[in-house]
This record gives sequence, C-alpha cells and structure tokens, in this order.
Amino acid sequence: MKNIMFFCIPAYGHHNPTMAVAKELIERGNNVRYYSFNEFRDKIEATGAEFISCDSFLPAVGSDVETGKKTLSTTEMTIVDLEVTMAMNDFLAKEVEEYKPDVIVADSVCFWGKLTARKYKIPMVVSTTTFAFNKYSSKYMKSSPDEIADLIKGQKRIKAELKKLELYGYHEKSIMPLVQNDNYTDTIVYATENYQPCSETYSKHYQFVGPSLITDLAPDKEHKRPLVYISLGTVVNYKPGFYKKCIEALKNEKVDVIISCGKAIDPGELNAMTDNVKVSQQVNQLEVLSKADVFLTHCGMNSVSESLYMGTPMVFMPQTNEQRAVAKRAGEMGAGIELRGESVSEIHDAIMMVLNASTYAENAMKCSEDFRSAPGPKGAAEFIEEAPHIMPDEDKANLRKEIIPGILELIYWIIMVALIFAIKPLTGFNGWWIVAIAANVLFPFYKRLSKRIFRV
Ligand code: UDP
Repeated sequence: MKNIMFFCIPAYGHHNPTMAVAKELIERGNNVRYYSFNEFRDKIEATGAEFISCDSFLPAVGSDVETGKKTLSTTEMTIVDLEVTMAMNDFLAKEVEEYKPDVIVADSVCFWGKLTARKYKIPMVVSTTTFAFNKYSSKYMKSSPDEIADLIKGQKRIKAELKKLELYGYHEKSIMPLVQNDNYTDTIVYATENYQPCSETYSKHYQFVGPSLITDLAPDKEHKRPLVYISLGTVVNYKPGFYKKCIEALKNEKVDVIISCGKAIDPGELNAMTDNVKVSQQVNQLEVLSKADVFLTHCGMNSVSESLYMGTPMVFMPQTNEQRAVAKRAGEMGAGIELRGESVSEIHDAIMMVLNASTYAENAMKCSEDFRSAPGPKGAAEFIEEAPHIMPDEDKANLRKEIIPGILELIYWIIMVALIFAIKPLTGFNGWWIVAIAANVLFPFYKRLSKRIFRV
C-alpha cells in the first residue's frame, strides 16, 4: 500500500484521464491525495481520493478566460504555472512532511507537482494527457506565427520568473526540461503505442496505456437516423456564431444533432428552432459518442481519444498546435477529415462526407479495437505502484543514442569546413562552394551510415 500524491493544472482535459487511474489505485488498496481545484472536487471525490483544494494559490484570470472566449497564451500559462509553484512552496513542504508520499503523479505541465517531487527526491510519474513530444514527434506540432511570436517574446519574462524560483530552492536554468518529455522520467501516456506518433523513439520509462476512461459503454451505432455531435471542448468554446452556422448547415438534413456549447452560452441564444437539433451547455460526452456517427471536434486530445474509443469518425477543427498534432495523427489513422473553412456549406459538406463514406467509420472502429485492448487505467496503476522504474542499462543505452549522433554530426561538419578552407591550398582550385554543396547533399547518407555503424 502506497501514499500517492496527484497534482494537476485546472483543466478538465488534464484531469479526466487521471480519474480512472486514481480510482484503480484506491481499489488496489493505496491512499491517494489529489491536489486540485474546487471545480474538480466532485469528480475527484467520486474516485475515493482525498481532495485538497489549491484554489487559494491561483492568481485571478480575466473574465475572457473564465468564459471560454480566450485561452491564456503559452507564455502566460508558463508564468502562472511558475507563480503558483512559488505560492505553494511552504504549503507543499508541510504536506510532504506530513503525508510522506511514496510516489508523486504530476501532470506534464504542472510545475509545482514536478518540482516538489524533484526537490524532496520523491519518485515521480509524469501524467501526459497529450501525446508525448520529443524531437521526432514534435514535427506533428505546427505552431502558428502568433504562437511562435508569443514564445519568442515571452522568453525574457520567463527567465525573470525562473530567477525568482531560485529563492525557493528550485534551480531551473531553462523552461524546456520542465515541459519536455525526456527518456529518463517515468511517464504515462494516454495513447496506445499504435496511436502515439513515433512511439518507437521513446524509452522503456514510457507506458502507453491508451485512453483512461470510467465507462462500460461500447459503440452502439444502431439507430434510424445518423447522429451528429458537435463540441469545441471546455476551454475555448465561446463561439455562438459557429454553432449557429452548424445548425443552419444541418437543419434540413435527415440527421439528429447534439451540440455541447459550453457553460458561457445560454442554449436558447442559438435559436435552434428545429426538431432535429438539441443544444446543451454540457453533455455526457462518452454516452453521446457511443451513439454518434460523426463528431465535429476542436481536437482536444481527450475528445479525439474518446471518439476513437467509441468508434466515431470525425471532422477536425483544430485551433492550437497541440490540437493540430492530434488532428494530423487521427487523420493518418484514416478516422476523419479536416474542416477546410467555417462557412455553412463547408461545415455541411465535411459532415456529410464523413457520414456517407464508410471508410472513416471503419478506420475509427479499428482504432476502437486497438484502444480497448490497451493496458488502460489498470496498466497505469501498476506502473505507478512499481515506480521508480530503475533501469541503468536502458538509461545508459539511451544516453549513448542521444550523445553519439551529436558528436558524429559535429565531426562531419568540422571536416567539411576544414576541406572548404583547405581546398585551394591543397589543389589550387577555388571550388569551396562545390564542397559546401556536396557536404549538404552527402550529410543524410553520412547520418544513415553512422547510425548503422554505431547502432544509434
Ligand atoms: N466534455 C464533457 N462534456 C461536454 C464537453 C466536454 O464531458 O459537453 C469532456 C470530454 O469528455 C473530455 C473533456 O471534457 O474528456 C475535454 O477535454 P479535451 O482534451 O478534449 O479538450 P479541452 O476541453 O481540454 O480543450
């Protein structure tokens, strides 16, 4: 029996997959103390875990964020994360002293959880509710120019916050080691090995458990009229104009439509005066998805995983780089298509296309089978109970795989630059530019050859 502390940021998408894991751990006889926020109290207590409120440590956010009209930028979120870490420092010192946790389960972007584990040298398992991202899989994340500008502009402010963090005994030189997935940290990912992009590039410290859901529901697609489900998640969902277009696009089709519009919109405001459309602020998404024939989604990791779990094909409408990565991967699985634009006819055509072509539903059903045979919350609980996973040989081999290619690439370019400078004195021929072109052309071959020779 272990004492386990869970830490999470205030977001449904980050909490939801951990609920089944906490429940499983408790059923196996462990104690779970979950540090979270009042909004999530009922959900957490329903698992049997002890809820500890951290609301008093949260800074106030603008009403735009609270009503789902806007999300915080990556820079803003990072700064809030660092501020909360500092605010919680004394409180968590006492909690650790009193509870004596055997393991900390920290969300991948919950700095106060991760840093507490590091500071007090407590074994940690990172809970990654998006895909795991490393230098290979991050190719799936295409940041928009605004997102890139935000990251560049934010560097100075983040550095200043990291400096303040030093006063609390956390010595972080940069933000990257805090947010990235490395090959040495025990990590749970709520995707299957098939679904996680580039899963072969992750070490044995990773446990790909698949969607972690509390449900007995299975796909149930036997009904007279197709069911269309529309939701933009729980964070940035204030888009009354968009929902109105969806209603317009589908009101004359022989389909039933369920729209989850979020808490900031009064469903009456959308004038869905048509029998085949039902608008709610929030629905039981798993139940709806078990019956739905197509899901128009913003591509939050949870929504897409839940959709695939229930064998529901999708129309993708991603808004952020992370959501674009999820849309790309689900598209590669053949389980849906991207919405090209937000006009009434584009919405109509994309939904009808997915409904009318059976391949999307067939591919979604294949994913459902894969997801249902994954280790799930039980596998996650076992992995947490057995933490820390100590594997020095694996770690050494991974370090070698990371360091040697860098050294080999450096040697290659040193030789090429030396050749550029030496070509004239050695041959009398001033063709340095030919060497430069050849160096670039030959580099991929050299990389492949050195990989084979050194097995890295
Ligand atoms: N959700 C729900 N009812 C709704 C809308 C959303 O239960 O009406 C749940 C959904 O099942 C999922 C989560 O909220 O687990 C949304 O997480 P996701 O990662 O998809 O998106 P986010 O809300 O974080 O943008």
